[in-house]
Amino acid sequence: MELNITCIPGDGIGPEIVAEAKKVLDAVAKKFGHTMKYTDILMGGASIDAYGVPLTDEAIETAKSADAVLMGSIGGDTTTSPWYKLPPELRPEAGLLAIRKALNLFANLRPAVLYEELAGACPLKEEISAAGFDMLIMRELTGGLYFGERKTVEENGVLKAIDTLTYNENEIRRIAVKGFDIAMKRRKKVTSVDKANVLDSSRLWRKVVEEVAKDYPEVTLEHMLVDNCAMQLVKDPAQFDVILTENMFGDILSDEASMVTGSIGMLASASLNDTKFGLYEPSHGSAPDIAGKDIANPIATVLSASMMLRYSFDLDKEADAIDNAVKSVLKDGYRTGDIMSRGCAQVGCRQMGDLLAQRI
Ligand code: NAD
Repeated sequence: MELNITCIPGDGIGPEIVAEAKKVLDAVAKKFGHTMKYTDILMGGASIDAYGVPLTDEAIETAKSADAVLMGSIGGDTTTSPWYKLPPELRPEAGLLAIRKALNLFANLRPAVLYEELAGACPLKEEISAAGFDMLIMRELTGGLYFGERKTVEENGVLKAIDTLTYNENEIRRIAVKGFDIAMKRRKKVTSVDKANVLDSSRLWRKVVEEVAKDYPEVTLEHMLVDNCAMQLVKDPAQFDVILTENMFGDILSDEASMVTGSIGMLASASLNDTKFGLYEPSHGSAPDIAGKDIANPIATVLSASMMLRYSFDLDKEADAIDNAVKSVLKDGYRTGDIMSRGCAQVGCRQMGDLLAQRI
């Protein structure tokens, strides 16, 4: 199979970690008989330096013509970089918002996995972390409270702020379908999170999710109120497979789920549209403090590449090979500085990429 991939190395550690992800993808291509065709585009600070804008129309067209986009990270030191003296619409992050919009990426996926070997980094009690966890948060990304009408008015001398939370049934249905499709590739359980005891938007959410569930008889569906979910994430995270939720709840819960893994350099993410197309990137930023030192952890980006193979190309065996390579490298005691612990062997970004590629 030929995989046409647009790469956005970006800024800071971005180029270093994307290079290692390509190394691992090339090893997958060699082993499984595929061809990787990469086209790099500039975004963020790198694009500002070259073209004066964080994302050009040409770059968007290149991304649109690919099967998937693999990204490192964009942005610089927000206090010292000259990029942050520019007006907001010309800053690095504006490129990210523009590409998400141009590619109509409405579904955000963030896995939170606790690896046995990294259990020591988990801030939860040992009796909870001992069970491990492997969940995925599927968050609606383009609707809800963050995109609703908002205003601040003055009534009788008192300031009043209004934000509106709106979802229509089509917006809910398309994200629910994505959630159930992905559950079919995992342990076949969906926990739909809402606040249906209070909010109309949540009651509609629940109704539509139940309708969609009828097309997936193999998937177990449960509903959970968001306040309970926030508690359950720290009490019994092992119960979750796919958490399906709206934009704001997902924003908060996905950060909480990331936090309980304790390892920012390990967390992948994906944003999908209603085709197989997706943008895959690590959850962390461009870490300008460690850029160019060959010490960044490339695993979050490598795992993002694995998600790309699984969700955009349906290459599950190939994705498993990457996930297993990560587990094997950790089991053999290799660590980058951010996840280093006593008795392990510390390696740099490039060496970690080599070790992963060798294990494909
Ligand atoms: P950050 O995630 O870049 O860094 C936070 C801390 O984690 C730093 O100490 C960093 O060294 C460390 N870290 C992050 N990734 C690591 C890795 N792979 N290996 C080892 N250590 C790692 O967050 P920040 O410092 O708040 O932001 C830096 C820049 O990144 C900012 O310009 C911000 O806007 C941008 N950012 C971009 C994205 C994105 O591109 N999607 C996301 C978040 C932040």
